Amino acid sequence: MNFIPEVSPFISIAELQKCYEHKKFSPTEFLEFTLDRFRKFDTTLGSALEIFTAEFIHSKSETHGPLYGAPGLIKDNICQEGRIASCASKILANYQAPYDATAVNRLKKAGALLVGRANCDEFAMGSSTETSAFQKTVNPWDSTKVPGGSSGGSIAAVAAGLVPWALGTETGGSVRQPAALCGIVGLKPTYGLISRYGVVAYASSMDQIGVATRTVYDNALVVSIIAGNDSSDATTLSVGSQDYTAGLDGKIPLGLRVGVIKNALYAPGVDLQLVTAIQTSLKQLEKMGAVIQEVDMPIMDYSAAIYFILSRAEAASNLARFDGVRYGIRAKNAQNLAQMYTETRSQGFGAEVKARIMIGNFVLSVGHADEFYHNARKAQKVMCQNFKDAFQKFDLLVAPTAPSTAFAFNAFEHDKLQLDLQDYFTCAANIAGIPAISVPCGFADNGLPLGMQFMGSHLSESLLFKVAHAYEQKNVWHTMHPPAYQ
Ligand code: GLN
Repeated sequence: MNFIPEVSPFISIAELQKCYEHKKFSPTEFLEFTLDRFRKFDTTLGSALEIFTAEFIHSKSETHGPLYGAPGLIKDNICQEGRIASCASKILANYQAPYDATAVNRLKKAGALLVGRANCDEFAMGSSTETSAFQKTVNPWDSTKVPGGSSGGSIAAVAAGLVPWALGTETGGSVRQPAALCGIVGLKPTYGLISRYGVVAYASSMDQIGVATRTVYDNALVVSIIAGNDSSDATTLSVGSQDYTAGLDGKIPLGLRVGVIKNALYAPGVDLQLVTAIQTSLKQLEKMGAVIQEVDMPIMDYSAAIYFILSRAEAASNLARFDGVRYGIRAKNAQNLAQMYTETRSQGFGAEVKARIMIGNFVLSVGHADEFYHNARKAQKVMCQNFKDAFQKFDLLVAPTAPSTAFAFNAFEHDKLQLDLQDYFTCAANIAGIPAISVPCGFADNGLPLGMQFMGSHLSESLLFKVAHAYEQKNVWHTMHPPAYQ
């Protein structure tokens, strides 16, 4: 292994840059170190679908900028020019992206080193990374457990100290839930804060790029680079770039009103050790100057159902474009056009994706659309209003990120509903378009990390980062790393 004296693989972007400034080692050396670690550890971890050569990586990035020399991994549903973007699906196994996603472009310009493509659930559909058509990713804390999903590859690589940052995507919790299960920080931004240009669509009204890092500061650093209006994506908000690290002083605003979502924290099925860890965290926040109050948000109990319907409906429409004509593989020997479509899609999509397309078409179909799709849209409006009302009374809301610690592979093979319920606490933020950040909040007796999330009103990222950072600084969770990857 390439050895750089005194460097921890768990070094933060901020520390890395100090090392470069003081010429302790160079970005080229650190990249070598990073690629060596992928060679050594990723055969077991399975986080990357592909790692590029050092030469290629360097050739794509600027040699200065706020993320100069910071290696990162990109989820495989985000386009990197000239590279495969497979969405971990057979149907796009040979699809080469013709352009960079806006976020990728901004990262390269900021000097970041984009080292490869991260494994994920097929088309970002899943909560365990088990629906990838290509490989398994394991949880760095326990290889018999899933890393969560769908951005499992991105999150596992960061948690295992292979890279300090990674991009994932969030439609219903795909960055926060694996971040919680692997003990790192995951941000889902306000809808429209980060451009979706170059992100393969799953459910466009909820899709957003999300950022995974080991520290809150690093997360704010990466978000500062990629956030902001983009003329290539009309759904981006008219906000300019902003330095989200500016307010991170280890303090929370005095009198910060924190609402604890009672029906989430005490929901049946939530690990009691997680409840205790969150209660302890809330007491800490209180000591730091927050005013904590419990609040009931009955609409949260409907979020998984709303999400289930809306996400499938939008997925069915978005995935109609994969027909063997324009992208990816094409079935051979078809007798006519209809057969070519059918064969291509039958061979190219995995079982989970097919199921979602079928359900999506069903909830949109004449005779059922009123009962399902239109009702879900109405419920979405109620949910948005309920959050608006809640944010009149509170600055932030707190809830568990996932119901428990990481689960075993195939744990829900015979009970798919339980797997879908992994999104129970996360997908509300996606439905309402509000930002949320998951932070590590302790460890369970089984040695696995626990996570909690802060949710804020639209464009409250600065406040989320500030509070999450102050909380992090009072604790040691971000300094603890999976022993197998030290
Ligand atoms: N687990 C959710 C799903 O399968 C979330 C996916 C996501 O956020 N991309 O739809």
